[in-house]
Amino acid sequence: MQSNSVTLMGQVCSEDTRTGVLVETLKRSFLNNLFYVQGKFPGIATQNDYYMALAYMVRDRLLHRWIGTAATYTKQQTRTVAYLSAEFLMGPQLGNNLINLGIYDQVNQAMSELGFNLEDLLEQEEEPGLGNGGLGRLAACYLDSMATLGLASIGYGIRYEFGIFDQDIRDGWQVERTDKWLRYGNPWEVERPEWSVEVKLGGHTEHYVDQTGRGRVNWIPYEVVQGIPFDTPILGYRTNTANTLRLWTAQASESFDFDAFNSGDYLGAVYEKMASENVSKVLYPNDDVSQGKRLRLTQQIFFVSCSLQDMFRIMKAQEIPLHQFADKFAIQLNDTHPAIAVAELMRLLIDEHSMDWDEAWGITQRTLSYTNHTLLPEALERWPIDLFGNLLPRHLEIIYEINHRFLDEVRIKFPDDEDRISRLSLIDESGERYVRMAHLACVGSHAINGVAELHTQLLKQDVLRDFAEMYPHKFSNKTNGVTPRRFIALSNPPLTQLITDKIGDRWLTQLEDLRQLEPYAEDLEFQHQWQSIKRATKASLAAYIYKQNGISVNPDSMFGIQAKRIHEYKRQHLNVLYIITLYNRLKANPDLDITPRTFLFGGKAAPGYFMAKLMIKLINSVGEVVNRDPEVRDRLKVVFLKDYNVKLAQRVYPAADLSEQISTAGKEASGTGNMKFALNGALTIGTLDGANIEIREEVGAENFFLFGLTAQEVYDLRGQGYCPRDYYDSNPELKLALDRINSGFFSHGDTDLFKPLTDSLIYHDPFFLLADYQSYIEAQERVSQLYQDQSAWTRMAILNVARMGKFSSDRSIQDYCDEIWHVDPVKIELSNNLEEFF
Ligand code: PLP
Repeated sequence: MQSNSVTLMGQVCSEDTRTGVLVETLKRSFLNNLFYVQGKFPGIATQNDYYMALAYMVRDRLLHRWIGTAATYTKQQTRTVAYLSAEFLMGPQLGNNLINLGIYDQVNQAMSELGFNLEDLLEQEEEPGLGNGGLGRLAACYLDSMATLGLASIGYGIRYEFGIFDQDIRDGWQVERTDKWLRYGNPWEVERPEWSVEVKLGGHTEHYVDQTGRGRVNWIPYEVVQGIPFDTPILGYRTNTANTLRLWTAQASESFDFDAFNSGDYLGAVYEKMASENVSKVLYPNDDVSQGKRLRLTQQIFFVSCSLQDMFRIMKAQEIPLHQFADKFAIQLNDTHPAIAVAELMRLLIDEHSMDWDEAWGITQRTLSYTNHTLLPEALERWPIDLFGNLLPRHLEIIYEINHRFLDEVRIKFPDDEDRISRLSLIDESGERYVRMAHLACVGSHAINGVAELHTQLLKQDVLRDFAEMYPHKFSNKTNGVTPRRFIALSNPPLTQLITDKIGDRWLTQLEDLRQLEPYAEDLEFQHQWQSIKRATKASLAAYIYKQNGISVNPDSMFGIQAKRIHEYKRQHLNVLYIITLYNRLKANPDLDITPRTFLFGGKAAPGYFMAKLMIKLINSVGEVVNRDPEVRDRLKVVFLKDYNVKLAQRVYPAADLSEQISTAGKEASGTGNMKFALNGALTIGTLDGANIEIREEVGAENFFLFGLTAQEVYDLRGQGYCPRDYYDSNPELKLALDRINSGFFSHGDTDLFKPLTDSLIYHDPFFLLADYQSYIEAQERVSQLYQDQSAWTRMAILNVARMGKFSSDRSIQDYCDEIWHVDPVKIELSNNLEEFF
């Protein structure tokens, strides 16, 4: 141990190998972990051993804060936010923890003195891809902000053994590979088997009257699964608060199978055990679609029940009476995936803790709040009654009772309106009967929110209109946000430094401070520095592209990037139509003077979503022709970056000149990629959809490339009978682009390959590409023209960044705190004296 002290975050810490941050201490700690945790010496250690040793070194410095935080919360019986989410798309942990701890530079130096390159070690980390896209990444940003703001919170979810699949591209098609992220161990988590809980599934219920004359229910399950919690510390930025992400792994409950083991059916019992463990095996890889599979509902009840039981355990340990549950916990439901919490919380209170219905219902409603994430009908979860009752017989009874009481309430507020009753019912009885999870969430929560102004407005007008009329006070908007720590401090150090040099570093926790950059927008010297940073990040992405795809792209061309899940409503194929249009113009007029452009795409398609997979193939096929054509060389390049995940996202955002946010108006709930691009100085070409609208309001209409129909115009056009073929027939450039695809030009003469896509566009076009085509082309022309004037472009980019303050997830979380959760920050004092805990 060293006797040195160092001041860290305003605290004096003595230097020991688990908490110290001097370079010498870090080196010693790293080597200790290599020897005594990994059990390796440099002669045989792999790159992964070095990464693990470094990760454990950093983890020690987190644990210190984690324990201090938990001790404070326990002592103060702090009101706690429980964020329930089936997805947490955390991204790599090491770099972010270094940033939040404030020891990036020291660790960099320590590693380099030991002969390592920190960047290489960071690259080694396998990210936990426990989410599909925006929704899961939002949950991760919110955990970062809650810790940074000093709010007591726990993220609850599932520790999927296989996260989102790894994407390969073969012959232009997406190929899925299982994501074995736990293969080499996960240094960030701590298993807590002592806090395991049991979850009942299937079977039947028995109703009886107890000695006091009270009606009771006994649920006799068919199966019991055990949930084991694995905890990951979530450190705030430059604070002592380290909260917890608690993810549940499923295991067979041996006590339940004891009879089978004892009755000689050993193999049968082992088989059952394996089946139980499937519950947390794999993430459903669908974004914005519900699959209605039994295993998915099992996953939902599994993590919800585990989490609620865990909260009951915490109440008990802190000796807080159960009737104070709503004072102790604010539970946020991230979409309907955890909506079964309404019925499960009622069941736990009534059946397992003998509370009466009315009190239990009051607690449930006061505790829960619900965030809706989508307007797409195919994403609204509903479960066939038979499937639901078979898996969750007791929950179905409770839902019927909730529904019965709720519909009576509706009848009083809206007498003689049976249509309204059937629209609002928790049970869809229009054909096969279903449980409607969004309805359950709306009835059981005291607050319901959308994730951008337009989204909330459309929820109230359309998808949840009857609920908005029934409970107007429950509805509010909470526009999404992103964490500037990961998405600029970690991913774009040079830009972070440049900004900090001008306005100090407070902006990383007070993002509105970025406004102070506005005066520099006209400053030529500052513009020049800005441009050289953008140029360098583009060159670095170009090097990555060359390594990955073997395509050489020119860093001086304009990088337009569309990186997000592949989906028809996100309209990557509209972008492709523009590429083909440009290509056609160049073929018709080889001397045409155009702004050289590189079109970059990234994103995964759900494995069962044929159209999305065909869109990936189309992008690659167009790229193959365009990139090889000597006539367009250096003016047009098309690249599909495989396996878009958080790690790649962090590489991509800083290198974008233009951010493509081109969804059909009224379809994208918010978007968060749009915010991350803009925060890194990309200009946006976009529709009036989701948070684009608010981004445009903030940065100024003159600094945003707007195109396309509004949500209202889309609605009206649909109502009038939209005929995409009219656009095809009347717009020669559009016709030529579609005909080129159909002619087999991009598919080695195969005229059938892309027909499902082009037929869908010409004859149905559910997402109004053809209606928006001309307006998009014209907006792209304005983009190209402006890019020729680098000073004007840079000025706009600086203004975009300066005006992005609203989109920090700190602001979103503060809104949730003020208007829904009513929780206050808790100060965490750290002590280096472990004995103080006794
Ligand atoms: N996928 C990843 C890996 C992301 O980091 C993000 C970021 O917001 C998204 C998907 C969502 O992108 P968008 O909001 O553009 O749909």
